Amino acid sequence: MYCNYCGKSIQDDANVCAYCGTRVGGVIARKRLVRPREGRKIAGVCLGMGEYFDLDVTLVRVVWLITAFMTGVGFLGYIIAWIVMPEEPYLLAAQVPAGGQQHVANP
Ligand SMILES: [Zn+2]
Repeated sequence: MYCNYCGKSIQDDANVCAYCGTRVGGVIARKRLVRPREGRKIAGVCLGMGEYFDLDVTLVRVVWLITAFMTGVGFLGYIIAWIVMPEEPYLLAAQVPAGGQQHVANP
C-alpha cells in the first residue's frame, strides 16, 4: 500500500508511514468504530463515525446537528454513542522515541 500523504510505498500492515510519520488512513479507526483522540471537538463521536464510514467529519457533524435540532433524538444519540464507542487505542508508541516525552503527558 501507499502513504496517501507522501505517496511512498510502505508496509501493508503499517499504522504510521515510515517516511513522513503520517498516520496511514486511520487503519484502526476504520476497522472498528472508535473515538479518535486527536481532532475531536467534544467526545470524538462524529470524528469516529466519519473515519469509520469514510465521510468528511464536517458533513457528519452537520447532519448530526440538523438531526438533533429537528428531532431531538440526536443529542441522546450522541450521549449514547459517547458511552458505547470505545476510545481509540494509543498509537503513540510507534511515533515517540524510547525515553521520549509523550505529548499527552502533563508536566
Ligand atoms: Zn508518508
